[in-house]
Amino acid sequence: RTKLASQRRQVDETLSPLRLSGEQLLLVKKRMRGALEAGLKSKGPSAVKMLPSYVYQTPDGTEHGKYLALGLGGTNFRALLVDLKKGLLQNSRLNHKIYPTPVEIMQGSGEELFDHIAQCVGDFLDYMGMKSARLPAGLTFSFPCEQAGIDTGTLVSWTKGFKATDCEGHDVVGMLREAIKRRNEFDLDIVSVVNDAVGTMMSCAYEDPQCEIGLIAGTGTNQDDGAEREKKEEHAGIPKMCINTEWGGLGDDGSLDDIITHYDSEVDQNSLNPGKQRFEKLISGMYLGEVVRQVLLDLTRGGLLFRGQVTEALKTTGIFHTKYLSQIESDRLALLQVRSVLQQLGLDSTCDDSIIVKEVCGAVSHRAAQLSGAGVAAVVDKIRENRGLDHLDITVGVDGSLYKLHPHFSGVLQQTVNMLAPQCTVSLLPSEGGSGTGAALTAAVARKKL
Ligand code: ADP
Repeated sequence: RTKLASQRRQVDETLSPLRLSGEQLLLVKKRMRGALEAGLKSKGPSAVKMLPSYVYQTPDGTEHGKYLALGLGGTNFRALLVDLKKGLLQNSRLNHKIYPTPVEIMQGSGEELFDHIAQCVGDFLDYMGMKSARLPAGLTFSFPCEQAGIDTGTLVSWTKGFKATDCEGHDVVGMLREAIKRRNEFDLDIVSVVNDAVGTMMSCAYEDPQCEIGLIAGTGTNQDDGAEREKKEEHAGIPKMCINTEWGGLGDDGSLDDIITHYDSEVDQNSLNPGKQRFEKLISGMYLGEVVRQVLLDLTRGGLLFRGQVTEALKTTGIFHTKYLSQIESDRLALLQVRSVLQQLGLDSTCDDSIIVKEVCGAVSHRAAQLSGAGVAAVVDKIRENRGLDHLDITVGVDGSLYKLHPHFSGVLQQTVNMLAPQCTVSLLPSEGGSGTGAALTAAVARKKL
């Protein structure tokens, strides 16, 4: 009995740095707020970049026509043909294809990456029988881009699992146009490029005009604030422009050092971009499984798990995909099934082990959802104050597998926002069409201006 009690105490001690108090969450909210303001003012580099999107308005329902929506996300390239007919968004699975991006392409040369994308577009146009159409296209590109207009974006830096050469500092639309030219099979009229968070906001705003924010919880994470007044000098006089916050960079200046645990530091050090995207590494699908694995390693070394045996499986980077967190944390899953999930990963567990693993997964995903909530609270309160309101009703359009598929992430996110932004009523709206439809809508809105 005393042995059990002491084990329990040690597990609790291990997990305690991952459990954030209300005060700590308020601090994160405050720091996010500070970083949002600093990003708007700064001319040089800042942890949270606050990039102008050149999107000035959300759709009003009068958009029409056929658009090709293309999107490069953290794991997939998506192509979608959208037919916008007077307020009716026609979208079915039939006009949509997903192409997984192979790791060798993510980490090869830029030319290979864009050739791959052009090849996917060619395949999709073949599939739709529309190769000769020269369709207007909207692109979502889920990496930070410094934009000088709606149809150009210079890649600031790769994030997530990408590190293709000769792309940083170059215009991604230009690179795609060149790849299409090299392919010489079809032509496209690329009208717009937006971040996936902007795309998500646009697609949700089509359904709900109160939607002024887009949020991504998938491979990476990002948020944009559709209501922010742009304060950088060159944009003075523009009443309203959607800002891509690139909030994943919070903490890159050390501002989260008291929250970041040594498990997180380990994950950061093993990543493609050490020292960068520290907030993203606490909350996004690409990293949560790795954080869990680091905690499991520590518990095993301490003799508290897996009979103290650090197996090859447990030492393998990346075995713990975030989808396993979703499975293990599912309320419907019995402990025996948790053990069978672990078995699939090559981890032999006892019943006690499976209880502890479930607890670790819960602590890591709970923290991720709470930190995302602290970030959302900072953004909505800022919008509320900018407008001089005592109370703000606002909708956040959300996309990403972590949000949509994890059993508790969305609930904890909502609870945290409610707690940390009591003067706002925030509705979270899962995006139906995804950021792809948003890309088509952005292209349609941008064309209306011409
Ligand atoms: P992308 O970020 O490429 O646009 P997604 O939104 O689908 O694509 O996000 C993929 C990320 O979501 C991956 O990092 C993966 O670990 C995570 N993921 C996939 N399935 C699940 C799941 N069932 N539960 C939680 N996370 C998941």
